[in-house]
Amino acid sequence: MIKENLERIKATIPSSVTLVAVSKTKPVSDLQEAYDAGQRIFGENHALEMRDKHEVLPKDIQWHFIGHLQTNKIKYIIPFVTLIHSIDSANLLEAVNKEAKKHDRVVDCLLQFHIAQEETKFGLDMEEARQLLDSEVFRQMQNVRLCGVMGMATFTDDEAEIRKEFKHLKEIFETLKTDYFAGQPQFKEISMGMSDDYPIAIEEGATLIRVGSKIFGARNYNV
Ligand SMILES: *Cc1c(COP(=O)(O)O)cnc(C)c1O
Repeated sequence: MIKENLERIKATIPSSVTLVAVSKTKPVSDLQEAYDAGQRIFGENHALEMRDKHEVLPKDIQWHFIGHLQTNKIKYIIPFVTLIHSIDSANLLEAVNKEAKKHDRVVDCLLQFHIAQEETKFGLDMEEARQLLDSEVFRQMQNVRLCGVMGMATFTDDEAEIRKEFKHLKEIFETLKTDYFAGQPQFKEISMGMSDDYPIAIEEGATLIRVGSKIFGARNYNV
């Protein structure tokens, strides 16, 4: 069913939107099936799980890290990660920069914003983002490149609420673009939308959607 699921989703999203197949908790055989159906971008939220899958799967896969990243786990993913969606503190960005330098890499990252009503979700607010972007420490970072923003909407059936939160993330993106990244074409990504809300996210300007269960089926445990 994975191939059919992928085809169904791809048929309904504009070509300007990139699909990240969220494969967390799923076995390597499921990822291989998606790969064989043409999928090349996978999203994981545990560093060691992503490292282990990277080791055994084809090397032209682009690995996106989408979960809360602990600084002591950064080293496992830096040699190969394509995009980190979940930079939620200045300290984390600094630590990623330091590790990337060791590997002589420039690692693409998104700033994660807290747009949901739930307190449990991670992310920056605008003030924290400005503090980070205005800081001398940030100006010195040579081994990370900020490419946009990421956010997760509240887990709710209330479509109006979800739409409001996505609109908010889009506004954050536009403000940062104007104030900090004008004339920097790499700052273009808005990562928002999951299995249940990606159509709304696309309407509100998502460039990256992160879809798991609609491709791979329900997860056994929710992490
Ligand atoms: C698990 C996860 C997803 C995908 O969730 P689904 O509802 O299964 O599509 C997307 N983004 C993040 C950050 C996740 O942790």
